[in-house]
Amino acid sequence: MIGAGVAGLATAIRLASKGVEVTVFEQQSTYGGKMGVWQNKGYRFDTGPSLFTMPHYVKELLAIDGKNDVNFEFKELDIVCNYFWDDGTTLQATKDLEKLQNAFENNLNEPKTNIAAFLADSKKKYDITSHVFLEKSLHKLRTYLDWSTFRSIFKLPQVEIFKQMNYQNERRFKNPKTVQFFNRYATYNGSNPYLAPATLNVIPHYEYGFGAFFPTKGIRSIATSLYHKAVNLGVSFHFDSPVSQIHKYGNRYVVNGTQESDILVCNMDVASAARGPLRNIIPSKRKKYEPSSSALIFYWGINRTFPNLDVHNIFFSNNYKKEFTSIFTEKKIDDDPTVYIHISSKCNAADAPQGSENWFVMVNAPYTENQDWEVIIAKTKVRILEKLNKVLGIDITKHIVLEHKLTPELIQSKTGSYKGALYGSSSNSRMAAFLRQPNFSSKHKGLYFCGGSVHPGGGIPLCLLSGKITSDCIQRDFKLY
Ligand SMILES: Cc1cc2nc3c(=O)[nH]c(=O)nc-3n(C[C@H](O)[C@H](O)[C@H](O)COP(=O)(O)OP(=O)(O)OC[C@H]3O[C@@H](n4cnc5c(N)ncnc54)[C@H](O)[C@@H]3O)c2cc1C
Repeated sequence: MIGAGVAGLATAIRLASKGVEVTVFEQQSTYGGKMGVWQNKGYRFDTGPSLFTMPHYVKELLAIDGKNDVNFEFKELDIVCNYFWDDGTTLQATKDLEKLQNAFENNLNEPKTNIAAFLADSKKKYDITSHVFLEKSLHKLRTYLDWSTFRSIFKLPQVEIFKQMNYQNERRFKNPKTVQFFNRYATYNGSNPYLAPATLNVIPHYEYGFGAFFPTKGIRSIATSLYHKAVNLGVSFHFDSPVSQIHKYGNRYVVNGTQESDILVCNMDVASAARGPLRNIIPSKRKKYEPSSSALIFYWGINRTFPNLDVHNIFFSNNYKKEFTSIFTEKKIDDDPTVYIHISSKCNAADAPQGSENWFVMVNAPYTENQDWEVIIAKTKVRILEKLNKVLGIDITKHIVLEHKLTPELIQSKTGSYKGALYGSSSNSRMAAFLRQPNFSSKHKGLYFCGGSVHPGGGIPLCLLSGKITSDCIQRDFKLY
């Protein structure tokens, strides 16, 4: 396997549990890929993902062999996210749906019934799509010969694949702030709500239907637990081992001229792999390939606490449409970006010194394409601080005692992510789900793919599902039952 990201770990666990001898080559000195960690001066930061949904996918992997040998604890968040607008409007999104609907009605004058109807529709979309689009390969005939798939295809108009997300949300809601709130879910897979299909309105069901969670030892503990499980199952890891070349002789794959195998699983971003180690085996992506958005993140040690903030906080842009035009058309970070602050020390006090907080401050950014990032980063930092100072009514600059950064270029170089995209390809087109890289190669026996750049897409839950789909394909092809 090339890469020890979460999808690679999930696939390795599943294959090893079936008796396959798995060797993982990872270019970094540790596992987890984008799910990294950085610590300094008593502050600990999860550098990549911060929002955790569908923990049962992790539990399922840890219990795969019936042994309770790896510890993993998490808790459900009562407050899913705090929302702030520049005009002083706030909204607290809670797991308690009655409270959530009241908050919309009281703070945004949005009728409760609109929220209830939207969430019911989100659940319906999930029920129709999950077992077809998320849990199976879209590129195997057997998927379409299944009665449940047939039923889902029959209901596809309800999934609104031919309608646009923002257009549908504007029709549903009275207050443009509610539209902005629900449009934001397109960013969960790095897409543009003004282009993406309304199918993405399924995403809120993950948060409000299943809940938002937080691992008690931080997000990185997901990767740590999966790594330990993989090791316990006999998976062998080679760190600091970038794969530069794969050769194929007959049906055997040779990694870096040394290790040979019948099966090769590529967990590294497939668009980068096609330009890198797999360049002689698979063609690089179509010209029209559009990566998802990237991000600029500041990790700030803050020497005070903020009682009005929670684990997840959003400070919305005043012109959301312009923000997405900046990102996807002009390939720049908007002058008034939506700012996301994640503070894990709200949940786990050990993540910051006493009386302090660890702020993960992120804005959406375009994928990297010859921008002058130094200039953009300096300008964006000023804009972020202006926004936060205004909304929180305090000069944050004075309280930053530590700073570390992650940029689209660094995401690309550290994790091999093509152009620094967070979630592989974007879902801005209605055919995106079908055009994403399949979990297997139809030309090369024994070649498989898993992770955020392949079906069913990016984000922790989907990456874990891609591990399942990929190992299912391998198990069937190699009769590993
Ligand atoms: C800043 C940020 C915020 C995010 N926020 C969220 C969130 O809140 N919730 C959520 O669910 N998801 C979020 N995501 C997305 C999520 O992190 C990813 O979808 C997921 O972690 C991707 O896992 P993966 O296994 O596909 O790939 P990766 O994590 O990219 O792993 C691929 C691995 O392959 C290795 N590799 C690459 N090239 C080579 C080579 N040539 N040889 C050997 N090894 C190689 C890399 O080093 C890496 O370890 C976020 C991502 C980022 C970066």
